[in-house]
Amino acid sequence: MSYLKAVPQLGEAQPSEDRVGPTAQQPGSPTTHRRTIDDFEIGRPLGKGKFGNVYLARLKESRFIVALKVLFKSQIEKEGLEHQLRREVEIQAHLQHPNILRLYNYFHDARRIYLVLEYAPRGELYKELQKCHRFDEQRTATIMEELADALTYCHDKKVIHRDIKPENLLLGFRGEVKIADFGWSVHTPSLRRKTMCGTLDYLPPEMIEGRTYDEKVDLWCIGVLCYELLVGNPPFESPSHNETYRRILKVDVRFPLSLPLGAQDLISKLLRYQPLERLPLAQIMEHPWVQVHSRRVLPPSAQMAS
Ligand code: ATP
Ligand code: MG
Repeated sequence: MSYLKAVPQLGEAQPSEDRVGPTAQQPGSPTTHRRTIDDFEIGRPLGKGKFGNVYLARLKESRFIVALKVLFKSQIEKEGLEHQLRREVEIQAHLQHPNILRLYNYFHDARRIYLVLEYAPRGELYKELQKCHRFDEQRTATIMEELADALTYCHDKKVIHRDIKPENLLLGFRGEVKIADFGWSVHTPSLRRKTMCGTLDYLPPEMIEGRTYDEKVDLWCIGVLCYELLVGNPPFESPSHNETYRRILKVDVRFPLSLPLGAQDLISKLLRYQPLERLPLAQIMEHPWVQVHSRRVLPPSAQMAS
């Protein structure tokens, strides 16, 4: 059974050493045959998802290091998620940006679907935040610039992520952010969608109210993220779901006195009830607080391309 349409094959890397990090983004020359699991050496588990596990893996012939996500067809079918998975794969396979996790390839056998992903050596932003409790201005501003740039790229391609939050952000070789998990993202050609999705704390008002929404939901989400990274908890967090909803709809944000004024200014320009009033992505990158504190470094491959 074929779940997925063809996406570009994983390219080859130099055979002399393991390839990981930014160099793994070089696509090289495309291969002509479909991969199978026998093409890989499987390493340690990197994590467990709802539908399967993720392993560190290496292509035998080129020693190209990847993360291999293994999903069970039976579970995907049981939940009726074939369509959503196909969409996730198709979207992610066509996105190439230093701050978006690459999906190089996929293949399947009788029972499993394998997604060949870029390996994010520094793991999850969520775990890092739990460890540090909160980030400083430099780290947060850098993440905001990276995300604004990556989302500009997505929105230009009419892709909305819809589910930006620490759990869906991985960290690259140099600590740069990699947007992962396009499970909820959606292509928006003409029709704007009304599906309710995402996590409570990050839900924008228009999604709570079931109104039509557009790419400006992502602006709300990075406003919530900016607050959570600097403060240590999300702005509308409450003891009950109803209370969280109520606070989101009122845009009831309370800034701790310790929160720098520049960051407060940026967050309050993103957390606007009216989507059209939210600060556009280009202006996030130009925002004085971001400009002063961001230490974004582009990987060599992206520098060459730009
Ligand atoms: P969901 O099933 O909702 O996507 P999830 O995001 O927790 O849940 P996975 O995407 O399957 O599940 O990933 C499981 C874990 O494996 C992640 O939380 C992360 O720690 C790790 N992981 C996933 N992809 C990579 C990757 N490319 N590089 C490094 N670690 C990864
Ligand atoms: Mg995931």
